[in-house]
Amino acid sequence: MQTIRALLYGDDLPPVGTKVFAYFLEHRLIIDTMDISVEVADLVVSVGGFEHDELFLNWQGSTGEKWALKPYEARDIQMVIATAPLSLKPQLAKWHGRTQHIKLVWGAIAAILAFCVLSVLLLWWQYDRAISWVAEQIPVSTEEKMGNSVLEQLRSEGGLIESGVAVKTVQEIGAKLTKGSRYHYQWVIKTDKTLNAFALPGGVVVVHSALIEKASNANELAAVLAHEVQHIEQRHSLKSTINSLGWAALLTVTIGDVSAVAAVMAHQMGSMYFSRDLEDEADRLGFQALIRANIKPDGMVTFFQTMAKEEKGDAPAWVSSHPATLERIKTIQTLIEKEPCPPCKPLVFDWIQVQKAIVAK
Ligand SMILES: [Zn+2]
Repeated sequence: MQTIRALLYGDDLPPVGTKVFAYFLEHRLIIDTMDISVEVADLVVSVGGFEHDELFLNWQGSTGEKWALKPYEARDIQMVIATAPLSLKPQLAKWHGRTQHIKLVWGAIAAILAFCVLSVLLLWWQYDRAISWVAEQIPVSTEEKMGNSVLEQLRSEGGLIESGVAVKTVQEIGAKLTKGSRYHYQWVIKTDKTLNAFALPGGVVVVHSALIEKASNANELAAVLAHEVQHIEQRHSLKSTINSLGWAALLTVTIGDVSAVAAVMAHQMGSMYFSRDLEDEADRLGFQALIRANIKPDGMVTFFQTMAKEEKGDAPAWVSSHPATLERIKTIQTLIEKEPCPPCKPLVFDWIQVQKAIVAK
């Protein structure tokens, strides 16, 4: 006779159970140690434990007291299954069915964990990629609408210079740098004492009057424009807008009503912040744009040197939102050495006249 090692639980037994030996004999379950005998027909099989790895044989005594027998370990459970009378087999099928339940429990836990991990990855590590993906879904026409609304807002605030020799010069240089672009560029000068220039989504470039006053020639202006254009071409401005305005505002823009957010954007654009990587990219691609337009790229170096001098005083907006100027100078100098451009020439403009046109306004 094969005995089953088990723990017996009963109303008068200790809560941790009592170690017993049990076996099936004909249609009875015999608890050897306790001299108990139960009709198999009175047994109710249940499965328990967190992982559903415990089997219980339950019954009620003649006076209604509750009993439960728990086979000690896996091989004892197997002994119950192997030696139980046929009448108990349908109930013991629960034991085999439990693996499905375990899979479900662990499957659900795994799914919840995976969801949490994915969310964190998306929001944190993949955040930039998520924004890039959203930006790619926005058509150029919508992006241009965004830029135009902000430009309208700037116009309504006054101080924009949109005619005269200075703007003509900016437009002429800008056109050289944006040949073949998918954007319809608009170039404006804003009367402002801070040394700044910024790019709106969709092809609007705003140059502060102070930048033209500080630049020593047209090549330096071209260097700044070449850089700003890349923020538009690479959609840095669009991504930054999505980032700072939030996704709800983006939805408004996507639906088509851009006027609601234009006012907010107009005030944020001047102080738009780009990461060091994006600034480096704009410098590198800006340099390539100057070469393609046959404009001598030295203006990048000399204008950055002017900026470095300015940094010693109060750092102007354009400087503070751009990476360490001295390092940028070094990078550009390396590019110039690596990629000499014999056909590149300095731009010929009457720069004094351009600067005078700004002061006169
Ligand atoms: Zn920049």
